[in-house]
Amino acid sequence: MTGITYFGKYEGATPKEDLGGKGVSLNMMTKAGLPVPPGFTIWTSECVYFMEHGVWSPELETRVNELIKSVEKDTGKEFGSNSNPLLLSVRSGARVSMPGMMDTVLNLGLNDEAVEGMAKKTKNPRFAYDSFRRFLQMFGDVVMGVEHAKFEKVLDAVKEVIKGYRALIQEETGKEFPQNPKLQLTMAINAVFASWNNPRAIVYRNLNHMGHNWGTAVNVQSMVYGNTGDNSGTGVGFTRDPSTGERVAFGEFLTNAQGEDVVAGIRTPFPLASMAGLSGPWPRVYEELMGIYKRLEEFYKDMVDLEFTIEDGKLYMLQARVGKRTGAAMVRIACELVDEGVIDKKTAMMRIDPPKINELLFENFDPKVSYADKVLAKGLPASPGAAVGQIVFEAEAAVEAKAEKRATILCRPETSPEDIAGMDAAIGVLTARGGLSSHAAVVARGMGKCCVAGCGECRIDEEAGIMTIGGKTFKEGDFISLNGSTGEVIEGKVPTIKPEISGHFGRIMNWSNEFKTLQIRTNADTPEDTKVAVEFGAEGIGLCRTEHMFFQADKISAIREMILAADAKARKVALDKVLPLQQIDFEGIFEALEGRPCTVRLLDPPLHEFLPHDDENQTAMAKQIGCEVEEIKAKVHELSESNPMLGFRGCRLGMIYPEISEMQVTALTQAAIAVEKKGIKVRPEIMIPVVCLPAEVKVLRKVICDRVDAVMEKAGVKIPYQVGTMIELPAACLQADKIAEHAEFFSFGTNDLTQTTLGISRDDAGRFVPTYVRNGHFDRDPFSEIHEETVGELIKIAVTKGRSVRKGMKISLCGEQSSQKSVLFLHKAGLSVVSASPYRIPALRVAAAQAAI
Ligand code: PEP
Ligand code: MG
Repeated sequence: MTGITYFGKYEGATPKEDLGGKGVSLNMMTKAGLPVPPGFTIWTSECVYFMEHGVWSPELETRVNELIKSVEKDTGKEFGSNSNPLLLSVRSGARVSMPGMMDTVLNLGLNDEAVEGMAKKTKNPRFAYDSFRRFLQMFGDVVMGVEHAKFEKVLDAVKEVIKGYRALIQEETGKEFPQNPKLQLTMAINAVFASWNNPRAIVYRNLNHMGHNWGTAVNVQSMVYGNTGDNSGTGVGFTRDPSTGERVAFGEFLTNAQGEDVVAGIRTPFPLASMAGLSGPWPRVYEELMGIYKRLEEFYKDMVDLEFTIEDGKLYMLQARVGKRTGAAMVRIACELVDEGVIDKKTAMMRIDPPKINELLFENFDPKVSYADKVLAKGLPASPGAAVGQIVFEAEAAVEAKAEKRATILCRPETSPEDIAGMDAAIGVLTARGGLSSHAAVVARGMGKCCVAGCGECRIDEEAGIMTIGGKTFKEGDFISLNGSTGEVIEGKVPTIKPEISGHFGRIMNWSNEFKTLQIRTNADTPEDTKVAVEFGAEGIGLCRTEHMFFQADKISAIREMILAADAKARKVALDKVLPLQQIDFEGIFEALEGRPCTVRLLDPPLHEFLPHDDENQTAMAKQIGCEVEEIKAKVHELSESNPMLGFRGCRLGMIYPEISEMQVTALTQAAIAVEKKGIKVRPEIMIPVVCLPAEVKVLRKVICDRVDAVMEKAGVKIPYQVGTMIELPAACLQADKIAEHAEFFSFGTNDLTQTTLGISRDDAGRFVPTYVRNGHFDRDPFSEIHEETVGELIKIAVTKGRSVRKGMKISLCGEQSSQKSVLFLHKAGLSVVSASPYRIPALRVAAAQAAI
């Protein structure tokens, strides 16, 4: 069946997939009787067919012609007529909105003769020629591939401009501008299909993890005009404030303008509320629009983003969709819709996008520090948050700076879709022109990035590489700060503070606890990180990597001494120096946990990682521990391995040097005893890494228990503890039943499990995995999301085998793969705990609740 439907006539089961977001809204609004200019949607499946075959599917042309006839009937105009021409817009519309990423053609159907007819019919020749000029420019750019900037140079009276544009198209492409409207339509549809694969759309899909094989729908719709005079106009709106979530009719508009004038930020528009105060048809239009806002919210049961045009006093709706919003707006809207009785708590939880929660964890300006005397200017508060960084004027510079770990503020006259990678790399965005719905504002809000838009006092001279603002001149690399909630642009670096979980965010977090069944813990190895994680709701530590403590200045030299030790006795002397220091670390962590459980992993990395590898540091180390530098070089050489990740690491260290494991568990047990004496409960869980054989767990369990029991006995104290193992090799998954005989719990180390299952080194994956993802061979980087077909299967095997021996045993995950999709997988696989770094905890709590709903 050909995928094409007239607005209002779609009855299928998968509207978003077929019609794309824009098509769904046009279909829905038409059905609901809202004023929508007639048109039709070519389904995404037709784009996919075109991408695969290079031609349209067999019936598409006939169906397009039939539906054009229906549009003619409904508008009373004729496509290709010279006296009463039907003009069309041709717009993309993917299933997930991709603002500004793909192409649009407006005013299609105009040619040398139709423009005369239009001039006569509207009695407004200037408007008719201006429409033709706009069409030529868009068609030349989007369909025929003439660079947009080249059109800007051709300027004179409108008719001369049209001639100039035509000549430019001929000159640049060697082809005539097509006068035949049917041919124009075919070419425009093809260009919109092809724009699915333009570079910026591909970058956008990669950033947003969207499928490259979805294709875009194409909406062909009769034109209405916001630029026919002072009773016409165009605008965009949101049914609630997309920055804060507040329930106010939010929007902006321009009189006598076309849609792209608002979005491109070329003219700064007026706030919607001012429409009510204008004369002529405007107060009535405002009332009508407010009625539509209400109906759209009733239909979507969510905040809606809409586009409208007023042609000679008549309001038309061009688009409505669930609106993009900031993280702060997301939680507020979810809570308030529950309070208003529109949705229930479960629906509200499912509306939370876990990665967006992270925006609420961003730093804000320290309210105790006044920066009033440093404010340079005020723009529009387009996307909230605080950003402090170095000025850059070009997207590429922001990308380069990010690679050097420098924070930047991308300062542009206005942004366009070409700037998307730079906006992603920068930590804040400042534009001189454009409103709250400009490209910069919409994209920044979508990315959760602080943005001040339309700062009129800001003058950017890209060529000279300078920006003048508030009477001062800045160059690339100078620091400024942005307050995205007030629109202030501030000189220098304003101090920031960490956020708190409170208000709407706090409510969402509490609701997540009502639904989730997975326990959420943190990966932490310092008291500071532990405290942050506990504040974010961590229910314990799921992975304490003890080696991180060894790198600290007070321990590294004793550790190096231990590595250089010639025999067990010398090793013991060195370990005795480390023991009290490691004990202090454990005490700090146990105290910060305030009674929550703590999984501590024994030493994991290969020993050579603790030794210096360059001359300078080797000489310094020799001096420090009083040996010859040659001795150190020889040890480094002796310990070097061809494949250290598969070498002498993990439990293999404890198997050969049990005294290392003994020192660690002694420190841990003594710390537990000391902290319990202060009245704080400690629940240690000792974990053995990189296990391959059941025998390893059996042997090391004995080493651990003997020592822990001896230390407790000596102190006359009994603290419950467990000994378990990491599961991070396929061999361990396949023998999980035998391993479970000796292990009280499992924790999947999916970083290693992924590298050993896929045979992809976790340290070298960056060279080729991104290309695999781009080409669709991997859906996501398997080091950020569980590769369910392989690693996931092994996890399922290990869970079944482990619990067949030890019923209901605690099974965790502590690798980096805790994305929303992975959490759903782990929930279904029956895991008990997911553990991740502190700043991931709130998003993880939401994902765990969603998995359980
Ligand atoms: C793992 O392998 O997933 C893990 C958590 O351990 P590490 O990253 O320390 O190797
Ligand atoms: Mg590991």
